[in-house]
Amino acid sequence: MRHPQLSIIILLTAFLGGCSSTETVFHERFFALGTLIEVSIYGADPTLAARASEQLEQELLTMQSSWHAWQPGALASTNEQLAGMQPFTPDPSILPLLQEAGHLSQLSRGLFNPVIGKLVALWGFHDNPLPVGTLPDTDAIATLVAQAPATDDVSFTGTRLVNRNPAVSYDLGAFAKGYAIDRAIERLREFGIENAIVNAGGDLRAIGQHGDRSWRIGIRQPRQSGILASIEIDGDTSVFTSGDYERFFEVDGKRYHHIIDPRSGYPADQTISVTVVHDNATTADAAATALFVAGPEDWVEIARSMHIGLVMLIDANGVIHMNPAMQSRIRFEPDNTAEIRLSEPLS
Ligand code: AMP
Ligand code: MG
Repeated sequence: MRHPQLSIIILLTAFLGGCSSTETVFHERFFALGTLIEVSIYGADPTLAARASEQLEQELLTMQSSWHAWQPGALASTNEQLAGMQPFTPDPSILPLLQEAGHLSQLSRGLFNPVIGKLVALWGFHDNPLPVGTLPDTDAIATLVAQAPATDDVSFTGTRLVNRNPAVSYDLGAFAKGYAIDRAIERLREFGIENAIVNAGGDLRAIGQHGDRSWRIGIRQPRQSGILASIEIDGDTSVFTSGDYERFFEVDGKRYHHIIDPRSGYPADQTISVTVVHDNATTADAAATALFVAGPEDWVEIARSMHIGLVMLIDANGVIHMNPAMQSRIRFEPDNTAEIRLSEPLS
């Protein structure tokens, strides 16, 4: 299968091309967090930009191993200890991550649920693909759904954690990339860098400016190559998309993808993709996943509860849903023929 994340990066690069003649531009690419990271820094001293980017690479690689749900590291050992059901103190570096995940899960009413690692593994998305043509055992899914793992099953007392539900296992795949990008932007600012984009496989956060122009970010077509639309951003803005094309397999012609509805235990099947624009990347990432699960009927309610102001959702019939503020920011390609349905304003 073609790697979809690479295509959006190339589009993005094409869109970002050109800048004011006096502006210095620094670009660096490396692999981390399971994807291609592209750091673009505008108007900074090139030596400083190179040093900052080098440090980001090291830090993102460290985050990748400590936040991985099933490869050895701080999160994997936290999961092992949670399974023991005894109070324990996890590696302090991941405490803020777990607390932020819990907070966002509450705001999403559990649709972003970072403790359904066992369900995600059951579907084979922990690098343990199911035999071709097979689905997980329905009883095993039903048992995990009945156990209803939720972030408030884990209490935090100071630095100690207590787990009350044996079905709890952290999988931060739906928001760790956003959290890492926010840390990367903080680091760039500490270096004195004010204008930059950190793009991780098409999900990104921008800060500052790009000469005297806005950045134009392409949003890919979910079912074919090319872009569906683009959005202009400047200042402090993150753009995150969750799609059913990122990781999936098919059985009897039906697609089973990696975004699981915690209420059913099955991939959420009313949505194809969701794009969220928000100031910080952590919230944008968690919200894109939560709104994907919420689907065309409930996304407005969950977007309001997560304080998200700009959303585009493509439903399973190809209808594009968005709020009026998003409509005024987005520009569709001339060949788009999909029906567009506007929601009530989000705020
Ligand atoms: P994203 O691409 O950001 O939507 O994240 C999808 C990843 O998050 C999956 O590969 C799983 O590891 C994990 N995941 C799947 N469903 C959920 C969910 N409902 N809530 C939180 N994480 C999930
Ligand atoms: Mg996400």
